[in-house]
Amino acid sequence: QEKSEVNTDIPNSSKEDFWFTEYGPTNTSISLRVKYKLFEKETPYQKIEIFDSYDYGRVMALDGFIMLTEKDEFIYHEMISHVPLFTHPEPKYILVIGGGDGGAVREILKHKSVEKVELVEIDEEVVNASKIYFPQIASCLEDKRVEIKFQDGVEFIKSKKGVYDIVLIDSPDPIGPAIGLFEEDFYKNAFFSLNDSGILVAQSESPFVFPDLIKRVYSIFKKYFPIVYFYLANVPTYASGVISFILGSKKFDPLKNFDPERVRGFDASFRYYNEKVHLASFALPNFFTELLK
Ligand code: SAM
Repeated sequence: QEKSEVNTDIPNSSKEDFWFTEYGPTNTSISLRVKYKLFEKETPYQKIEIFDSYDYGRVMALDGFIMLTEKDEFIYHEMISHVPLFTHPEPKYILVIGGGDGGAVREILKHKSVEKVELVEIDEEVVNASKIYFPQIASCLEDKRVEIKFQDGVEFIKSKKGVYDIVLIDSPDPIGPAIGLFEEDFYKNAFFSLNDSGILVAQSESPFVFPDLIKRVYSIFKKYFPIVYFYLANVPTYASGVISFILGSKKFDPLKNFDPERVRGFDASFRYYNEKVHLASFALPNFFTELLK
C-alpha cells in the first residue's frame, strides 16, 4: 500500500513504516504495522498517540494502550451501549464516563427515546484529537442532546443522586487517571446516581488479562445491584481479543426483559449488535464462571 504524506511536525513521526507495540500487563504484547504517527501529545493526564495502521485504519493509544481502531471500534461501542439501552424499555437520560472519542455517544444517540447524554471526560485533548482524526466517530459530540464536561468522573458522580436511566463507564485500563474508575466507592456512587430502574455498565477488561479485577468488580456489584451479569465481545485489537462488560441493574433484566422485536424493528443499523448477539453475549464459558465462584 502507498504511504501518504508524513507530518514531520509530529515528534517521533517516521518516514519508514514500523510496528507499534502495546506492551500488555501480562508479558504479552500486541503489534500493528503502522505507516506513520499522525499525532502525539503529552497531556496532564496521559500520552495520546494516533497512528495510521495498514490493517486497522487509524489507531488511538493512551499511554501505549490501544483504545480504538477505525476498523474494529464498532464492536466495543455497540456492545457497551445497545445491550443496556435495549434492556431498559425507555432510556432517556444517559451518563457516559470516559469515552472522549465519542464512539459510545454515537451509538446511544441512535435511540430516539434518548433526550440527554452527559459525557464526563477528564482529558479535553482526547476529545479535540478525536474530532480531528476520527471525525466519523466524534462528530456526534456536536449533537444538541450531548453535554460534555471535562472533569474527573470519580468526583462528578459524587453529587448525582437518583437521576440517570443508564450510566456507562467507558474507561481505559486501570492505570493513571482511570484507577479510581475501578474502585468500590466510585461504583457505589454510580449506583446512587441511577434512578430506581437504572442500569450501570462498565467495561471490565479481559478475563485472561485481569481475572482478579473481574472477581473484585463482581463482588462489588453484587453488594449493590439485585441483577448482575457479565457479557462478552470479541475485539481483535484488545489484549487477548476478548473484552468483558459488567451490567448491574436495579429493575430490568437483560435476558428476561429483553424484547428481540424491538431490535429487529429498530430504525438504525448495527455492524456487530443484533438480537441474537445480545442474548449470546451473556453465555459465559466455564473458565469465566469459575472466576465468579
Ligand atoms: N474503549 C476504550 C478501551 O476500553 O480501551 C476506552 C475509551 S478511552 C477514550 C477512555 C477515556 O477515559 C480516555 O479518553 C480517558 O481520558 C478517560 N478517563 C480516564 N480516567 C478518567 C476519569 N477519572 N474521569 C473521566 N474520564 C476518564
